[in-house]
Amino acid sequence: MAKKQFKTDSKRILDLMINSVYTHHEIFLRELISNASDAIDKLYYRSISDNTVGLGRQDYQILLKTDNKARTLTISDNGCGMNGDELEENLGVVAHSDTLRFRDEKGDTPDIEAIGRFGVGFYSSFMVAGKVEVVSRPFGKDESYIWSSEGPGGYTIGKAGKESHGTDIILYLKQDTEDENYGKYLDQYTIRQLVGKYSDYIRYPIKMDIETQTLKEGSEDEYETISERKTLNSMVPIWRRKKDELSDDEYHSFYKSKFMDYQAPITVIHYSVEGSLSYNALLYIPSSLPPNYYSKDFEKGLQLYASGVLISEKCPELLPDYFSFARGLVDSQDISLNISREMIQHDRQLKTMGKNIAKKIKSELTRLLESDREAYEKFYKEFGVQLKYGLYSSYGANRDELQDLVLFKSIVQDKNITLKEYVDNMPEGQKYIYYVCADTAAKAAMMPQTERVRQKGYDILCLTDDVDEFAIKSLMKYQDKEFLSVSGQELDMDDAEKEEADKLNKENKELLDYMSECLGDKVESVAVSSRLEHHPVCLSTEGDISLEMEKILSAMPTSNLGGLKAKRKLEINHKHPVFKALSSLAETDKSRLKTYTSLLYTQALLVEGLPIEDPVDFSNKVCGMMAELGA
Ligand code: ADP
Repeated sequence: MAKKQFKTDSKRILDLMINSVYTHHEIFLRELISNASDAIDKLYYRSISDNTVGLGRQDYQILLKTDNKARTLTISDNGCGMNGDELEENLGVVAHSDTLRFRDEKGDTPDIEAIGRFGVGFYSSFMVAGKVEVVSRPFGKDESYIWSSEGPGGYTIGKAGKESHGTDIILYLKQDTEDENYGKYLDQYTIRQLVGKYSDYIRYPIKMDIETQTLKEGSEDEYETISERKTLNSMVPIWRRKKDELSDDEYHSFYKSKFMDYQAPITVIHYSVEGSLSYNALLYIPSSLPPNYYSKDFEKGLQLYASGVLISEKCPELLPDYFSFARGLVDSQDISLNISREMIQHDRQLKTMGKNIAKKIKSELTRLLESDREAYEKFYKEFGVQLKYGLYSSYGANRDELQDLVLFKSIVQDKNITLKEYVDNMPEGQKYIYYVCADTAAKAAMMPQTERVRQKGYDILCLTDDVDEFAIKSLMKYQDKEFLSVSGQELDMDDAEKEEADKLNKENKELLDYMSECLGDKVESVAVSSRLEHHPVCLSTEGDISLEMEKILSAMPTSNLGGLKAKRKLEINHKHPVFKALSSLAETDKSRLKTYTSLLYTQALLVEGLPIEDPVDFSNKVCGMMAELGA
């Protein structure tokens, strides 16, 4: 039989494929089963319109056979089959246009890793087999053909004697090497596992003769091998079943086994879309973070199936980053298995589905928030930071998706509230949404900066996570209400109070300037406060960087923002007796005024929870004063 050559491009890709270090060899089985299923589909559709075919749905099957002696794995289908010309046409060219396009974009050498990832269908069989035979007989024809190849060297086509229609793909498995055990594809258990993993939902039964050892009848110690033809795939995926036919238990146990989580999910989202792009989606919100969530090897994404065939374990386009915690899968009959799996990642279809999935997740979370607050709080405890990070990382572009899902602690109510709940509770006349950065609401309530605002009857949001203030700054406003930090530049409480503070600042300019001079570059200025009620001092900031943000930025190891400093202002309460002392010391004892200024500044740092620069000096100064008073 004359040997024929593969087309040039095909030969190169085949070469690469065989010699590649690509490790996911096992996908060959998925590829061959999916080809078999396509071939059956073709005949099945023909049978629907042409009753001379005379086959019913139940007649179709894919059969897997192993032969240890011959070291072969055979995948047979009773689909449409191929004649000699079709074998030549379909199997003489490895690369489909997409594969070639892929190579063109990348330059001269095809990226074998990438090719391997989407598979080149039939040719992936050469990853595990040294020789492949395809014996095929078209439906309704008497003649059958055999295509045979040992790889890039070429192939032959000749006549065969196949008795029934369909195709047998016979893989002569490679010899085992140190790195790879090809013999495992003769193992029934491995085959069953692979079918379960990749092809469980193929619509036709995938059968195999399974051998089991059983006690011989009537004997107590003699065993015999019984062979039984079993269907390895379940065929009906849970996501194609009707919602009202499924119990929570079924949803949960599917989730646990599929996504390897021992805990039940917080909620399940199951829906289907009909139209030009039809698909079923089954999504889960887990009840806790996966252990590798914050590590480099965490990948977001949903499983993607094309008509029941798994084509991607993690398809990142289907999930926005801020919902990266969601698990689940999407199955669409409108996504073609025949197109390059690499290409579809850039596909418009995925983007369309991704957008819709994001909407569905949002509306499910909103439903939880409104009707099952406890479950929502549980969810939020695990994943809330992710939502806030979503606001920040998009500079607020995701505001519509996320702003109503974030919670902050209310210092008045000491519980988590939404921004909407805050605004709905705002008394007449309150212009801003006030916030403060503190570890707990209780601590926030004790901070001098919050006193005045609380006295007005206004609530304050307590920001506890590092990302919170960044998220708020990205949002800028909620329902037209701006956010205002109680430690920020202006509290904007009351014009009369502000005027008074301005007046006092002018009157005491000399004193305040002197104090500012004493503190050097530790502060931008010292001023009379309009926000303090009982406390003598506090720190506030001018400009965009708050003290909290300064702390976070300087803790970032790789950030070049570490040098950004908050512009600090030391505020003094003029109603406090200490202010009188300062005023009189300005006249009588500048050196003592300097000590007081340093003490007041250090106290402001302490109240703020900031480290003090020289604790020993602070302690000495306090003790010095105690000794003087006691003397
Ligand atoms: P793809 O399936 O992505 O088109 P393949 O290289 O796997 O690429 O297969 C090439 C072609 O060979 C298929 O499009 C199909 O026409 C034909 N083919 C492959 N396997 C079978 C089969 N089991 N029965 C009938 N035709 C097949």
